[in-house]
Amino acid sequence: MIAVRKLSRRYGATRALTGVSFDVPAGETMVVFGPNGSGKTTLLKAMVGLLRPTSGEVLIEGKTPRAVRGRLGYLGNELYLYPHLTVAENLALFARLYDRDAAGATRALEAVGMAHKAESLAHTLSRGEGRRVAVARATLHDPDYLLVDEPFSGLDEASATALPGILLREGRTVVIATHDVDRGKAIADRIITLERGRAQVP
Ligand code: ADP
Ligand code: MG
Repeated sequence: MIAVRKLSRRYGATRALTGVSFDVPAGETMVVFGPNGSGKTTLLKAMVGLLRPTSGEVLIEGKTPRAVRGRLGYLGNELYLYPHLTVAENLALFARLYDRDAAGATRALEAVGMAHKAESLAHTLSRGEGRRVAVARATLHDPDYLLVDEPFSGLDEASATALPGILLREGRTVVIATHDVDRGKAIADRIITLERGRAQVP
């Protein structure tokens, strides 16, 4: 499980998160709602160890996010793809980083319906295609914990509808930040809403 304890983060005078606490039990899907600027991205980055909290902590199975990073997947607003490598080369690189063979990368690419673009350079992809490849990149190591930031934005209707089937799997603990209330509610086991960096109790 993931335990978020009194998490606060400031950027200079801006309080992006203030005293946020919640648990995500193993195997559940938590959806984080909140308007622009409410702290969703800051929360997810802190939860995967990309951003140091000003105070408070995140524990995954009682350990720091960095200690379990091989079992974590993260899909942020950025694609994390090398523009001048092909899609297949990008995924092979990430597979190597995670000590996986290329089969997982091929499978992940097929799952997002992008196998036909395997030999395309990443910079030639449309925004939505790039997002789909980034989903493959974030899931090719079959992470036990998957955190995704605004996964529906920039996707066409069919891709957005197919996305939960790719992100969620039995036994995986998933955190999704989105302002898409309908899609979020449809997949959430738990919901937390951020308002100016504070968690709103429902
Ligand atoms: P959300 O993802 O919900 O839109 P963010 O976590 O991106 O919210 O931002 C929360 C607040 O922190 C906003 O007021 C934003 O302007 C501020 N913020 C985010 N990142 C930075 C940064 N690197 N430097 C300064 N302020 C930031
Ligand atoms: Mg954001």
